[in-house]
Amino acid sequence: MTDKGVPKPSSTEDEYFVREDAEKKRRIALEMKKQVAGEQAAAMRELHYMHCPKCGMKMQEVRYGNLDVDTCFACGGVFLDKGEMDVIAHPRQKGIMAAILNWFKDETQHPVK
Ligand SMILES: [Zn+2]
Repeated sequence: MTDKGVPKPSSTEDEYFVREDAEKKRRIALEMKKQVAGEQAAAMRELHYMHCPKCGMKMQEVRYGNLDVDTCFACGGVFLDKGEMDVIAHPRQKGIMAAILNWFKDETQHPVK
């Protein structure tokens, strides 16, 4: 015992158990951190999924060719999922980008309010 009343390891065995206890507490804390991060990520997904990153309105999935393009009819935004840009950039798919841009041709001249 120290003069502050906190037991101090007096041997290597005591130090081993103190380190083991600290490691156990560290693992529990990291697991809790991971769990909270997962819960926050799920809450963020619930809140933002399929909402336009620009105006926040609900986006609609519109099938075009072999792609499901997330489209915001409120502001004309188009969101591409991972890998969809490659499909659009591929020469075989050249017409898709022009078609997407044409969807909003009238809307940009007379936007939905
Ligand atoms: Zn939008």
